[in-house]
Parts: sequence; C-alpha cells; structure tokens
Amino acid sequence: MAVIFEKSAPGRNSYLVPCPDIPAGEPIPAALLRDGLDLPNVSEVDVVRHYTALSRLNFGVDAGMYPLGSCTMKYNPKVNERLAARDGFTMLHPLAPAGMTQGALSLMHELASYLCEITGMAGFSLQPAAGAHGELAGVMIIRKYFESRKEKRPLVLIPDSAHGTNPASVAMCGFQVKEVPSTPEGDVDINALRGMVDDSVAAMMLTSPNTLGLFDRNIHLIADILHEKGALFYCDGANLNAIMGKARVADMGFDLMHVNLHKTFSTPHGGGGPGAGPVGVVRKLESFLPVPIIGRKDDRYYLDYERPHSIGRIHSFYGNFLILVRAYIYIIMLGPAGIAHVSEQAVLNANYLMARLKKEFHLPVERICKHEFVLSDKGMPGGVTTNDIAKRILDRGFHSPTVYFPLLIPGAIMIEPTETECRETLDAFADAMISIRREAESDPETVKSAPHTTPVRRVDAVLAARKPVLTWQK
Ligand SMILES: *Cc1c(COP(=O)(O)O)cnc(C)c1O
Repeated sequence: MAVIFEKSAPGRNSYLVPCPDIPAGEPIPAALLRDGLDLPNVSEVDVVRHYTALSRLNFGVDAGMYPLGSCTMKYNPKVNERLAARDGFTMLHPLAPAGMTQGALSLMHELASYLCEITGMAGFSLQPAAGAHGELAGVMIIRKYFESRKEKRPLVLIPDSAHGTNPASVAMCGFQVKEVPSTPEGDVDINALRGMVDDSVAAMMLTSPNTLGLFDRNIHLIADILHEKGALFYCDGANLNAIMGKARVADMGFDLMHVNLHKTFSTPHGGGGPGAGPVGVVRKLESFLPVPIIGRKDDRYYLDYERPHSIGRIHSFYGNFLILVRAYIYIIMLGPAGIAHVSEQAVLNANYLMARLKKEFHLPVERICKHEFVLSDKGMPGGVTTNDIAKRILDRGFHSPTVYFPLLIPGAIMIEPTETECRETLDAFADAMISIRREAESDPETVKSAPHTTPVRRVDAVLAARKPVLTWQK
C-alpha cells in the first residue's frame, strides 16, 4: 500500500483559516522562515480513507478470535476505554499533590486490596509496568530478603515449563538459574526437586498454571520442600485467568507473585504498549515492596516513601495509571461471582477446543487443562510444520496461536481461546484447524505457501528481525 506521501499532489489540501480578529503584528523575518516543508498535500477525505485502510490491514481482537497462548488476548470491554479516557484521569499530573489526587490514590489503594483478596497476598505494589518488570521487582525482593537475613543463597530454581522471562529476570538480579525437569505428565519432577533444594537455593519460580496450561498437582508438596530449607516460592501469575476466584495463590504456599493486568484484567496489549505487572507478597516480605506504596491514614490517601527496607523505586511515577483504571473497572463490574465465572469459562473453552482438536492433532500431554493447551505438529502429513499451520490459519480469518513455545515440546502450538469467545466461534476455529489438517493430506503445497489472502505474504522472519526497514525513503 502507498504511504501517504505518495498520495500527495500540490494544492490538494485546502483549508480555511479564519481572519484574525486582532491587529496584524510585525511579520516574522524571512530569514527565520523556510518554505517547501515536506508535508503531504492530501484532502481530508483522502486522509480518512488512507488511515481507515491502514487500520484494516491489521488484525486485532476486535476483528476476530486471537488464540495466542500465554497472552490472554481476551476481548476488552469498551467501557474501560471510555472511563479511562475521562479528563479527570488523563489530565492528572504525576507531581500533583496528594490533596488534589485523592480519587486516583483511592482507586489504586482499592485495586491493590482487590488483588490481595483475589490472591490471598498481604500486600501489592502496582508499580511494575509489565509482567517481566513484576518478576524483576519480585526477584529484587527475594535478594533483599536474604540480604536482610545475612544469608548467601546464589541459586534460583526454574522448571523447564516456565515462561521465558523467568530465567532472564533471575539472571538480571545476579542469581544463577538451575533448571528443574518436568515429568512426562507435565508436573515438576519431585524427586529431582528434592535433590536440588538445599540452603544455597534462594527461591523457586513457578509459572502457574505452567506453559503447558497445566496446574501442578503437587503444589503444596513443592512449597513444603522449599520452605523446609528456608527458600521462597515465587508464582509467575501472569495467567491468573484460569484460577482467579477459585483458588488463592497464597493458600497454595507461594510467598510472592506477579499478575499481568494487561492479560487477565482486560487491558489491550501487544506491540510493547503500556502494561502493568503488580507484585504481591505475603506479610513477611511486605516491608521490601517498592516505594512509594499507596498509604491510607484515616480517610486520606498518600504516597508512602517511609519504608526503610524497600527495594526502592522501580518505575518513575505511576505512569501506567490508566491501565490500573481499566483493571479496577473490570474487577468492580464483574464482582466476586463474575471473576470466578471468568475462570470457569476460560477453562471450559480451552478444554472444549482441546477435546475437539486432539482427535486430529498430536496432544503431547493428555490431561484436563486450565486456560490453554499445547498441540504439536508431530505426525502432520505432507511435511507440514507448525509454522505452516500458523500461516494458513490467517487465511481462515483467525490470528495464529503461539508457536514453538514452550520449548520443551518440539513444534508446539499453544492455544488459549479465553473466556470471551462463544461456542460458535470456538467451533469455527476448530473447523478451520481441522480443514488445514485435511488440506495437508490432499494439497500440502497450498499450506506450505500460505498465507494467500493477507496484505503481506510469508515474510522472511530472520531478515525482518535483522534488517528491518522502518522508514519510507523517497
Ligand atoms: C506474558 C507473560 C509474562 C511476561 O509479561 P510481559 O508483560 O510481557 O512482560 C511472564 N510470564 C508469563 C507466564 C506470561 O504469560
């Protein structure tokens, strides 16, 4: 598609500037002016059509089902956007004094208390701006906790079914990562774990439910093994969609966690936009949370910096405040019963799709799943791979699932339908997947050369990453 500069023609933009109602001043000296400013000359209708056409080249959750595993691309209610766009929220200056921001502070205080109620944690910081940022804050808390106890523990354990950001966050904080194997059924290998936990282990970080969409059946036992040796238990709770309102993370024996408001709590995400990864802790870790915490004294809210054990600031201001507004609205609109219903529906939808697709695709771990499940391309006819399936599904009007992740399943296809899709849409997706499977038998070349109907055909992903062309040159 042509860029807007290519649609430019001299004199095409005509606009009416009203006559000034104040006397003309001295003209600006010619030396300070330039002419020939390189802006496109296009009419209003051309501008409207250009950007409308651009928006249609894209795929979003408002356009169709987006079953991107681990990302929870649920539909985000538009009322969130309406309310978050109110001037009272958007015009707030981060340095406005507490006396002028009581509404915002109380919203944040209340949101943190809802997260405590949902997870069973004693305290939450809303400061981290992403899930991985929440992990970083969490691991900094772990480090500070052991420093305060004068204990040297260099290791953090991470199962091979963890999200990829977990080892990165741990390494950034100067810990060594040690991988814990999984059993063929997708649980943490308890015998291996017992052999690994001693007083050099600071913590174990468990993605829960894990990246296979499975809830570990030995969760209490894992917590006990860690706690016996004085280690902490961290929950990567980015995918709270499966368990919220049903079970509380703190009751399972976890000591700290993060949640992704931009997944479970309905904020649009993708493209690296703003997010929020609040970090929550049990009572004994509360004093280490990042400053400032939203404090409350009598009926007044304030930013509390008087926390000597805190790991400090991990974000300048609360710049992602509007994400917090969306999450707050989502939680109060659903209420406790609605929150639990989200989990039920998310788990039901995933299991429904899994049951339909496992007849046609390889399912590496056959077990009731939580909010997502993982297939693979094992046994696909015609040499068709996961990548080909992911491309061909675009021709059927769906976004691709997550592919080649988790790494422990070769050729993984990770599907998360979310709770906001109805049965007809789930069936349409299953039918499309099954038709691709049939096509792989009858006409594999069409699958391997997909997509055929998208604005951009198969791109060279390596070249696109290594030599991106990001600007238009005349
Ligand atoms: C998405 C996700 C993360 C990372 O969250 P970001 O906001 O992308 O940094 C971490 N863990 C799990 C399990 C996730 O699904």
